[in-house]
Amino acid sequence: MTKPIITRFAPSPTGYLHVGGARTALFNMLFARHFDGLFLLRIEDTDHKRSSREAIDAIVDGLDWLGLSPDKKPVFQSMNLARHAQIAKKLLNEGKAYLCFCSAEELAEMREKALAEKRSPKYDGRWRNRDPKNAPAGVSPVVRFKAPQDGHLLLNDLVQGEIRVANEELDDMVLLRADGSPTYMLSVVVDDHDMQITHVIRGDDHLTNAFRQIMLFNALGWSPPNYAHIPLIHASDGNKLSKRHGALGIEAYKDLGYLPEALLNYLARLGWSHGDDEVFSLTEAISWFDGSNINKSAARLDLNKLNSINAHYIKNINFDRFMRILTQRKEVPPHAIDRLNRGLPGLLNRSKTLNELTEKAAIYLENRPLKYTKESLALVSVEDKINMKELSFVFNGLDGWDQKMIEENIRYFAERKGIKLGEIARPLRIALTGFTSSFSIFELSFALGKKEVLARINDFVT
Ligand code: GLU
Repeated sequence: MTKPIITRFAPSPTGYLHVGGARTALFNMLFARHFDGLFLLRIEDTDHKRSSREAIDAIVDGLDWLGLSPDKKPVFQSMNLARHAQIAKKLLNEGKAYLCFCSAEELAEMREKALAEKRSPKYDGRWRNRDPKNAPAGVSPVVRFKAPQDGHLLLNDLVQGEIRVANEELDDMVLLRADGSPTYMLSVVVDDHDMQITHVIRGDDHLTNAFRQIMLFNALGWSPPNYAHIPLIHASDGNKLSKRHGALGIEAYKDLGYLPEALLNYLARLGWSHGDDEVFSLTEAISWFDGSNINKSAARLDLNKLNSINAHYIKNINFDRFMRILTQRKEVPPHAIDRLNRGLPGLLNRSKTLNELTEKAAIYLENRPLKYTKESLALVSVEDKINMKELSFVFNGLDGWDQKMIEENIRYFAERKGIKLGEIARPLRIALTGFTSSFSIFELSFALGKKEVLARINDFVT
């Protein structure tokens, strides 16, 4: 039997779940689902000073909202520290790691010397073969990995391709700090092994870590996972993503009125493609996502594109879901329900975000008598009022009330009076909503219903 595919998302809970993290989680999830495997979550919370409960909650909630919850309970890396330390000791006992008694001053000196000689700073291995008996007094040692010094290491990255690194370029990394706590590099390797991770899909800022991690896997006699390092997301101007550019937490996107399925669809296309497909379901993405067609160059965040995908998904919202969304944000009086139902297609067609949708829907929540804004009343002439009065006679005489019929009658009325449609539309909008807007008067009249329209015009002209 072949080994099942197991992927993981391994965020450090030092802040919110941002778009880059969400995309990494999504790629891991799609890949696991494509191969009927498992998608796991590991919270890398070993840095106590920088990790927080709020950040953990934001990550878990953000994933949940996006529909990216893991297949098992999250693993908390901080729970495995004893196991990580035990593995470091095992390497020490096997002679694959050693105690290093360098003082902070010595390390700083080493660093300065390297920089002065224009070399990249590297630990010089001075305790590699020294007997701990010669240790200076009062220095607690760290445990360093005895990294291979000759030969090459080959990484066959699923995105970046084959990358070869000379072992001599990598120094003897620290596995256990002087206080006995394991380093990130050790913890990741042990956890990835223990969680039986087969594929590590993560940002390419971790590419150089992969070499060190593979070395450790090899030393432990464990087979390393496959790696796929995905290029980071850049801002639309090509710069590093910052808050100003939309590097917001996922909850901010939620607050801005994006639908989770729209954001997922958008994120899936951010650095991955399937032909020319732009809008697709999660099921389709899962059936297509086999690790191929991930771009090698950085993707750019494009909020206009996200808006247009969001607008597409908003169009497909049904009335029940719309009501759930609206009632979470506004109080909906009973009289508004039928109006909203009739006005829904127009509202959906004109909204790019749920916030816009809610704002627009507010015109159906009002009850008579409306308050007219000063600016709009200033635009109304006596003639406008006479026209509205006459129009209300036309409406009153109509046998039925549908949008087509309303439109035909308003157009015919304007024609008969020899005035432009706009001359009717402007005061009618004010009469029906209290302000000037770009709403379709046909949709608006239809959704409000004949009785309400007549009453509102009557309020307006008297
Ligand atoms: N905890 C690391 C981070 O948040 C990720 C480590 C990994 O994916 O291997 O950047």
